[in-house]
Amino acid sequence: MLSNNTNGILDNFFPHHIQEEILEYLFVAFEENFKAVFTKIEKIVHHNDVDLDSILNNLITKDFIQKIEDNYEITEKGKKIGEQVVRRNRLGERLLADVLALQDTDIVETACKFEHILNEGVEEAICTILGHPSYCPHGKRIPKGPCCTNNTRNVDQIVIPLSQLSQGDFGSVRYLKTSSDEEDSILKLVNFGILPGKTIKLISKHPTYIIKIDESTIALEKFFAERIYLRKSTHTMNVL
Ligand SMILES: [Zn+2]
Ligand SMILES: [Zn+2]
Repeated sequence: MLSNNTNGILDNFFPHHIQEEILEYLFVAFEENFKAVFTKIEKIVHHNDVDLDSILNNLITKDFIQKIEDNYEITEKGKKIGEQVVRRNRLGERLLADVLALQDTDIVETACKFEHILNEGVEEAICTILGHPSYCPHGKRIPKGPCCTNNTRNVDQIVIPLSQLSQGDFGSVRYLKTSSDEEDSILKLVNFGILPGKTIKLISKHPTYIIKIDESTIALEKFFAERIYLRKSTHTMNVL
């Protein structure tokens, strides 16, 4: 991770957000292992009034991207910026989905604008209040920032793990935080009906976590309680 935001690293002569959009697309192409082509870049940039060729040539000169036959690839230097843009975009999506409860179509469009606006301080604050999420609402990995590896727990967090609720508290599930090797365990939670939007009541924490969801009472190990992220709610569900 770079310690600065991308301002000042990219060439200020060209529209800054267009360079970011190109690096974002090429980073995703690298991440998802598909070939990036000029016609697709043209579509993604969707600004008719820019000279895309000279922007691409400039990015090549600056060693952010390289052209191999008809395909474009991101360099190691370019990846550092592309990854940051992707991180801001996916964090923006989480914020819009979890805190503002926007619908998916609004999320994609607004997050796309967010990624060019968020500076590093704001990005870390958002990451922290969301509990350093690992995935966007579409299941894509959110690259880690410096805040995610720093172990201090932040008291201002809005979205917290079930393990941090107090006995008797209610929370609305926002997401299940997992790493790729934990998918089996998380499926277990999904089978219990523990899904985003569901309200959970924490009945007790010791010796094991007991929760109530819908009509069911479920016992969970600490491992799971640390991976269910919720937004604490003050109102109760009438079913409980
Ligand atoms: Zn997404
Ligand atoms: Zn973080």
